[in-house]
Amino acid sequence: MTQTSLGIIGGGQLGSMLATAAKKMNIKTVIFCDDYNAPAKNFSDDFVIGNYNDKKKINEFIYKVDLITFEFENIPYDTLNKINEIKKVLPSPNINKIIQNRLSEKDFINRCNISTTLYAYIKSEKDLNSNSNLLPGILKTCTLGYDGKGQYKIDSLEDLKNFNIDFKKEYILEKVINLKKEISVIVTRFGHQNYEIYEPIENIHEDQILKHSKIPANINKDIYNKSITWATLIADELDYIGTLCVEFFIDKNENLFVNEIAPRVHNSGHLTINSHNISQFENHIRAVCGQKQIETKKLYNAKMINLIGDDISFYRNKTFKENEFFYDYLKKEIKQKRKMGHLTTIEI
Ligand code: ADP
Ligand code: MG
Repeated sequence: MTQTSLGIIGGGQLGSMLATAAKKMNIKTVIFCDDYNAPAKNFSDDFVIGNYNDKKKINEFIYKVDLITFEFENIPYDTLNKINEIKKVLPSPNINKIIQNRLSEKDFINRCNISTTLYAYIKSEKDLNSNSNLLPGILKTCTLGYDGKGQYKIDSLEDLKNFNIDFKKEYILEKVINLKKEISVIVTRFGHQNYEIYEPIENIHEDQILKHSKIPANINKDIYNKSITWATLIADELDYIGTLCVEFFIDKNENLFVNEIAPRVHNSGHLTINSHNISQFENHIRAVCGQKQIETKKLYNAKMINLIGDDISFYRNKTFKENEFFYDYLKKEIKQKRKMGHLTTIEI
């Protein structure tokens, strides 16, 4: 049998970890991304550097691979769709179309009868005035936001003076909830009624960036079950193939809300590399490449800390205990708020 060649769009740490998992399964990886210094170049077999709408470069990439997946959801939908006409893209680009936009994403979740925070579509200052019932709220751009980018915390209409909000963009205004805890559920769907489900992961954000993740999450049984049911239902409704992450909020009254869906492997699942027999990355590769599904089991409880910006310097010179696993993403430049690496500690 000839070796499968998997294309991965995006060259960040998620791409690196996907490429590493693929290598273990003897699957070749080719990364496509727009950054000449992409860290995933260090981990993949081959790469093509080009803009996400550079037709020539995209074609060069397409003809090197058998099928294609991605490590981030914000690739222009038209690009993904065109690629999909030539080589299969998994998960399906139609899913990206829903999830790339916070409004269609939240509308979809509500159509599944799953709770989200209250929200409204905002395209002018007038819309903000008429939705003041959602204050205090967070104004979020409908597209292209991550790690809290493109967000404004608005306590009252007075605050608008302080922000120079660009109404050429579209937004949603989301009511702020009394947040007790955040969790995520990662599911790999192989097809109809075939899943591998990781237990809920508890997440702590600092400055809207994920800082700590751990299993088990300190949550009650109802929330545990409901979060898994909802994540699985979302994967089914999307007819999803691959690994997906659903992020949840739990409020002080123990209400559960879906915050957002990541149609890809997720930062909170980095610990699965060391805590489980099969990581979220390996499961993703298995599902999209049509490989055997293996029952996924937890081996250890674990916690992960993201090493952001300068944090990495200390860890690069540290020695580690046998239950500590340090990952350096090998990014060229240390930048404030940039995810540079992570450390997972397993309980042995
Ligand atoms: P991003 O796409 O940048 O991750 P999120 O919508 O997940 O944006 O928001 C980032 C973080 O901000 C969340 O993980 C949470 O800590 C906080 N946050 C976002 N929306 C709300 C809300 N409606 N109520 C309370 N906290 C929120
Ligand atoms: Mg988020």
